[in-house]
Amino acid sequence: MARKPMMAGNWKMNNTIAEAVVLAQEISNHYEKEWPEHVDVVVCPPYVDLKPVKTVFDFDKAKVSVAAQNVYWEPAGAFTGEVSVPMLKEIGCTHCIVGHSERRELFGETNEDVNRKVKALVAGGIAPIVCVGESLAVRDAGTTDEYVCAQVRAALAGLDAADMAGAVIAYEPIWAIGTGRTATPEQAEAVCAAIRATLAELFGGEVAEDARVLYGGSMNPGNVEALVVQPDIDGGLVGGASLKAESFVQLIEACL
Ligand code: PEP
Repeated sequence: MARKPMMAGNWKMNNTIAEAVVLAQEISNHYEKEWPEHVDVVVCPPYVDLKPVKTVFDFDKAKVSVAAQNVYWEPAGAFTGEVSVPMLKEIGCTHCIVGHSERRELFGETNEDVNRKVKALVAGGIAPIVCVGESLAVRDAGTTDEYVCAQVRAALAGLDAADMAGAVIAYEPIWAIGTGRTATPEQAEAVCAAIRATLAELFGGEVAEDARVLYGGSMNPGNVEALVVQPDIDGGLVGGASLKAESFVQLIEACL
């Protein structure tokens, strides 16, 4: 079965509630009824914006899913500043980003942390969007595939094929995030294909064929088409270009 593309906007730490509601409303105003047939549209606002943004999409009956950018693996307790899977579930989050390179680099998130978060999400019925990607030093050393596929193995350790239903992997080369420098379609395709081969090794061919592998890293309306036509790239996880409704909608439409 052909995979349905996904276009996910990672708003990062941008947009107050008032700004988030305006952006959600602008996306909703562009919403076309045929989108859900051809592409899954997801927005990932900051925690405080999740409920207001979801309310806008629900009120307008716009099938845009809402996802968190992070989560903690314990369900409740003395973990000041953290947010749990049941909390995200109650809001109606369908997905959650895990292991974004900014969390790994700025907040010390390890492969083990990512794995704990993935397991908690799967157990709680929220699909993880697992981010992996190499630094420029790793790319220059010629070890990109090994590095990225090791991140995939670590993130998914202990999961079985059934746990992979709905799971998404986002290949985001660190050197391409927020830099304006995109991986070429050939570079991105090569790593996404290696990720899919790793999924096949871990969980079998069917899971690998069904799992969506996204590209992220300075994706924009000018480069999206060349990326999403690649056979192993099933859409995008997008930062900067998701912060304006007009460019985000162009990215969605490139997947139709
Ligand atoms: C991201 O944050 O996941 C990302 C890919 O950012 P940008 O599109 O701005 O490079």
